[in-house]
Amino acid sequence: HKYVYDFSEGNKELKDLLGGKGANLAEMTNLGLPVPPGFTITTEACQAYLATGREPDGLAGQIEAHLEALEREMGKRLGDPQDPLLVSVRSGAKFSMPGMMETVLNVGLNDQSVVGLSAQAGGNDRFAWDSYRRLIQMFGKTVCEVPGEEFEHALDEAKHAKGTHDDLDLDAADLRGLVDAYKKIFLKHTGREFPQQPREQLDLAIRAVFESWNAERAVLYRRQERIPADLGTAVNVVTMVFGNLGPDSGTGVAFTRDPASGAQGIYGDYLANAQGEDVVAGIRNTVPLQELEQLDKTSYDELLGIMARLEEHYKDLCDIEFTIERGKLWMLQTRVGKRTAAAAFVIAGQLVDEGLIDLDEALHRVNGAQLAQLMFPRFQLDHEFQPVAKGIGASPGAASGTVVFTSARAVELAAEGKSVILVRRETNPDDLNGMIAAKGILTSRGGKTSHAAVVARGMGKTCVSGADEIEVNVPAKRFTVAGQTVTEGDVVSIDGTTGKVYLGEVPVMPSEVVQYFEGSLDPEHIDNALVRAVHRIMTHADGKRRLAVRTNADTGADAARARRFGAEGIGLCRTEHMFLGDRRELVERLILARAPGEREAALAALLPLQRADFEEIFREMDGLPVTVRLIDPPLHEFLPPLEQLAVNVAVAQERGEDVAKEEALLAAVRRMHEENPMLGLRGVRLGLVIPGLFAMQVRAIAEAAVSCARGGGVAKPEIMVPLVGAVQELETVRAEAEKIIAEVVGDSGVEVLIGTMIEVPRAALTAGQIAEAAEFFSFGTNDLTQMGWGFSRDDVEGAFFWRYLELGIFGISPFESIDRDGVGRLVRIAAEEGRAARPGLKLGICGEHGGDPDSVHFFHEVGLDYVSCSPFRVPVARLEAGRAVV
Ligand code: PEP
Ligand code: MG
Repeated sequence: HKYVYDFSEGNKELKDLLGGKGANLAEMTNLGLPVPPGFTITTEACQAYLATGREPDGLAGQIEAHLEALEREMGKRLGDPQDPLLVSVRSGAKFSMPGMMETVLNVGLNDQSVVGLSAQAGGNDRFAWDSYRRLIQMFGKTVCEVPGEEFEHALDEAKHAKGTHDDLDLDAADLRGLVDAYKKIFLKHTGREFPQQPREQLDLAIRAVFESWNAERAVLYRRQERIPADLGTAVNVVTMVFGNLGPDSGTGVAFTRDPASGAQGIYGDYLANAQGEDVVAGIRNTVPLQELEQLDKTSYDELLGIMARLEEHYKDLCDIEFTIERGKLWMLQTRVGKRTAAAAFVIAGQLVDEGLIDLDEALHRVNGAQLAQLMFPRFQLDHEFQPVAKGIGASPGAASGTVVFTSARAVELAAEGKSVILVRRETNPDDLNGMIAAKGILTSRGGKTSHAAVVARGMGKTCVSGADEIEVNVPAKRFTVAGQTVTEGDVVSIDGTTGKVYLGEVPVMPSEVVQYFEGSLDPEHIDNALVRAVHRIMTHADGKRRLAVRTNADTGADAARARRFGAEGIGLCRTEHMFLGDRRELVERLILARAPGEREAALAALLPLQRADFEEIFREMDGLPVTVRLIDPPLHEFLPPLEQLAVNVAVAQERGEDVAKEEALLAAVRRMHEENPMLGLRGVRLGLVIPGLFAMQVRAIAEAAVSCARGGGVAKPEIMVPLVGAVQELETVRAEAEKIIAEVVGDSGVEVLIGTMIEVPRAALTAGQIAEAAEFFSFGTNDLTQMGWGFSRDDVEGAFFWRYLELGIFGISPFESIDRDGVGRLVRIAAEEGRAARPGLKLGICGEHGGDPDSVHFFHEVGLDYVSCSPFRVPVARLEAGRAVV
């Protein structure tokens, strides 16, 4: 079995096998770009190692063969005392997991070869000893779990002894001393000497990279990003090139366009005389890449040429890492770069303009989750708020919250329901928990490519990085800025688009994208790249999609907004809100009615109120279908809670008041109490048990439609019966409803459809029968998930889903994204059997899944006619319905 690939043997399509980094190094090698030679150990080798706890048979021999080939090509041997070949050992999974896994640089250095390295570097002792101390530090921490602080501490001591704060002030002798100190630390923690055998270093480093796949922070990151747990990482063994050989060396990272806004140009950070990790970690402040032009014009021009070439080749924004070793440029990595939601839309539009991709491809390049992000509100700024600092707008959004300085505190306060802003000098992978818990992240150091920036962008979390006017003091839990001190508990606001930081809570305003959807920004007449790109891509999605998109709305205001957002009707109008507020009393009367006369009076009082509700909705949705669902929740939900009522009655009795009415209510609450109300007297069952209830609603709907038609409008009501499990239930309701409808609509021309929700598993499994009595089905995937899995929808998410996610029983809550295999199968069966029984049966979905991107794709696949979702999700569903087609 082939476990090792030379860079010249791979290509960018082999990400599953070679990981992203390895596949792209291979691609660049084959494009003839200057990539340091090396080879990739496959993800399959890692999977085998993780499954068995040892390297698979044959791996060692293949590594040997590839190492020998590399040594021949470079004319050097690994760790040779005179002229050592040194390699880096780098992780690289299929999906980028920035900073989550391990890398070891300078493998091959030992007490002898450090001397050879110095000679090779023109007698640069300082460089050689610095490289050696870095190896011991990284190897110790990564491979042998030596606590990193010990090395940091020894480094600080060396600087202190020298009276400096800058690493660069340490000379060769200092670094040599540091190597001795590091070796002692290594021995103390591992019980053995630092390994001097280069091949042993290599093998242990490879193994450590394999194992880092299951490091806690990597596991956490994968869960957050929904990356499957069984992919494993590839390992890249790459010839070392050095950016720390002096002022004519350096290292940097760059994007071919601005990953925050999408604007064209050169975006990057450069650090002279440094190794790559220094930039990514944000340890030292970098200079803008443009300054490289002054430092080394030849390399700068070559780099720009390569970046243009890569963009054209990948037809997308690329990010790169490079090193310059004494004036020679080396490409260490490239990949299609992560970007903000705004940049995704803007860049997709630009690439269409540049003729690199077509509009179908542009649709692939964006997604509903990004669109949802762009609909977040922004800060509303007036003179009252002046920024106190400006960093880099690393990940957009507007976030206000309580300042915290540690990950642990962020998690604590977030659990109490507080919005927090995590403030750090810079973040590192150990801060991941805090970053997840925080509303926003503010750092005083690091560029657009620092850990904080990259991870926050990936999470869609607001982040300002490198706000260097801020002096962060973590132990004292405070920062100072512009002469003011901000302590833990104070509130700040950060703008991840502009990079500005404000003290106090800044009010927010709607996003431009929402204003565009609202119709208050005309994309043809404003100079806003984002709005224009969104408009163009949405228009294309609308032209492509087969699924219609409706909305779930119960009020005229919601209906109107959803219509502006592009809703093509209402897929679910829940009528229960119409039983709340001042109407509660009428509902109580209905429930308490003893004689038919009392009940009828209560229903008669409710009728005009309901009719007015429906008239308003039909008016807003003029000409579009409106699905009104008859009342669903158990009636006792409209009564006061038992305990409270019991106390009130007791107190009133004590005072000698007349409690006849309250006692009757209490008796009703007791009578109607259910152990399992979700499986109790609700939906169609209620309609069959309480005489006149559904009839009143049907009459109100029909009368409202007729009144609409008389006023010149077009109402298209669709009456929907909830919780049906057997066709007989539906037939009974239908027979009564048809009589009322016939009586009310007369010759008004109004047409009323009658259909049902499919939300009980039995309904899905008997859909062929039910379709005989239904003109449409709408899948209630909330209840279908609840009853399909047997998960109480109101309880389980907080109770144990974390464990299920951890165990990988599912990758995402089935209430959030449709469970294709189980609940989805019920949907598929019902769709097929329903349509077989009644060709042309109208099919929709109105559970929460209607606005979930993945689920929309599924509903497209199974052939539904529409999805229905909350008004704010309507644009997301339109986009995803278009993406499902291309
Ligand atoms: C459903 O069950 O999916 C549904 C839309 O109805 P409700 O959420 O009101 O139970
Ligand atoms: Mg339901």
